[in-house]
Amino acid sequence: MGNIVAIVGRPNVGKSTLFNRLVGAREAIVDETAGVTRDRHYGKSDWNGREFSVIDTGGYINDSDDIFEEEIRKQVKLAIEESDVIMFCVDVVEGITDTDREVSQMLREVTNKQVLLVVNKVDNTQRYMEATEFYELGLGDYFTISAMNGSGTGDLLDAVINALPPLPEEHEGEEEDTLPKIAIVGKPNVGKSSLTNALLGEERNIVTPIAGTTRDAILTRYNKFGHDFYLIDTAGLRKKGKVNEDLEFYSVLRSIRVIENSDVCVLMLDATLGIEAQDVNIFNLIYRNRKGVVILVNKWDLVEKDNKTLEGYKEAIQRRIAPFKDVPILFVSALTKQRIYNVLDEVMRVNENRRRRISTSILNDVMLPLIEAYPPPSVKDKFVKIKFVTQLPTFAPSFAFFCNLPQYVKEPYKRFLENKLREQFEFTGVPIQIFIRQK
Ligand code: GDP
Ligand code: GDP
Repeated sequence: MGNIVAIVGRPNVGKSTLFNRLVGAREAIVDETAGVTRDRHYGKSDWNGREFSVIDTGGYINDSDDIFEEEIRKQVKLAIEESDVIMFCVDVVEGITDTDREVSQMLREVTNKQVLLVVNKVDNTQRYMEATEFYELGLGDYFTISAMNGSGTGDLLDAVINALPPLPEEHEGEEEDTLPKIAIVGKPNVGKSSLTNALLGEERNIVTPIAGTTRDAILTRYNKFGHDFYLIDTAGLRKKGKVNEDLEFYSVLRSIRVIENSDVCVLMLDATLGIEAQDVNIFNLIYRNRKGVVILVNKWDLVEKDNKTLEGYKEAIQRRIAPFKDVPILFVSALTKQRIYNVLDEVMRVNENRRRRISTSILNDVMLPLIEAYPPPSVKDKFVKIKFVTQLPTFAPSFAFFCNLPQYVKEPYKRFLENKLREQFEFTGVPIQIFIRQK
């Protein structure tokens, strides 16, 4: 929670170079494992064991000249609202521009979060001297870096970690903290507020709103029909931003915030539109954050159906979300309330799956014979022997397979292992991580 770092600044100052430096190496590994297309503007980084998200806001901005000034203003405003730490990137070679001054003006008014002024392209000592002009922006001390060669980024990362809000204390294991947090996500107009209202609706008397983890999102406790969880209620948040929600950047940044704070996400699609690129992007955000997921095809009441319609929809969705296809897909109407209570059952099931722990002895008894029957292919006459499997003590399910030659175990075989785990144990709706390690 509280782990979003946004990079803002005008084009060509080096935002994406910095982004790549912060998330690059690590993401390459994660995504190779996951088989997911890499998002060039959103990724995870960590420094001294603290994980955080990095967003390159420039990637989402439309920089055709006429609307540029306005776009950058919106971009900065949203970064202020939705992130925890802001890196304002400027370019020592170009010096201070009008846009820089304007952005500084906005950032000087920010009092509740840290702004780090980052002077980039400081590749040599000469430029280090020139950087002093940026004091003029009135943002105080700055960091000099070269995103290109990496110098200065260590100090910058130290400052980022210091600026992040403290992690919640682990030992406060009261019952409320262990209740799952459910988020309803999806692009604009798919029916998120309709579903929230249908669930919480008029019966708000039996729910208890408590202070949320972020300024805007409210956690609402839902306990009826045998369920007990928090719904991350973003109604207020959406009202405020509705006009801008057609910009993908806005829905992405908002989705990230909500997804990161959740345990299970309900991803809503509009049945009249089918699954679109933006839906897939949000799905990937959920997957990359290793959260549980249930897909809802909403507005099912509007679809002309015959006996093949439902299967057709299911297959189309599975094609787009592959390889992680083991996800519940439900066909609902928030308007008529058709099947909306099944959603809760499914969400709770996924939440249990996400918390599932398989004992090492059962894992080995089940998995080793399957591996023996279909071992990893040999490489250069060398045989890979997997000898031991264990589930790691992580939040979301991850498994380590120990073997003699881990470097020879390739992606297809990892996928085989994941599929077997899914066949043997119930992990529906939950991303699984597979690690191959040296015994
Ligand atoms: P963005 O538009 O803000 O995302 O900027 P980019 O990351 O695309 O960088 C713009 C240009 O500046 C590219 O040609 C980069 O190679 C270059 N650049 C980025 N960082 C540095 C740096 O630290 N030193 C130098 N000399 N060039 C850099
Ligand atoms: P949000 O932007 O995702 O919160 O979407 P809303 O809940 O505001 O819904 C957008 C529009 O779709 C509204 O006009 C809703 O009345 C309509 N809508 C939502 N769910 C359904 C549904 O299941 N069936 C039909 N026919 N309309 C729906």
